[in-house]
Amino acid sequence: MVAEVADDVIAEPVPCVRCSSGALLTIVGRCADCIADMGLNHPGEREAWRAEVTAAIEGRSG
Ligand SMILES: [Zn+2]
Repeated sequence: MVAEVADDVIAEPVPCVRCSSGALLTIVGRCADCIADMGLNHPGEREAWRAEVTAAIEGRSG
């Protein structure tokens, strides 16, 4: 099998709401760097972000 490249999938960098740098993957607006930084240095901010993640998932499912 050869991996197919879907032409209609466009990966555009999305600006992170926290550090404003473009990231191909963000979770509720935060890039992977910020998620890691929050986990290491900003536990309170991480808790708030996790609550947003939970709310986003619950919002999508129903
Ligand atoms: Zn960021």
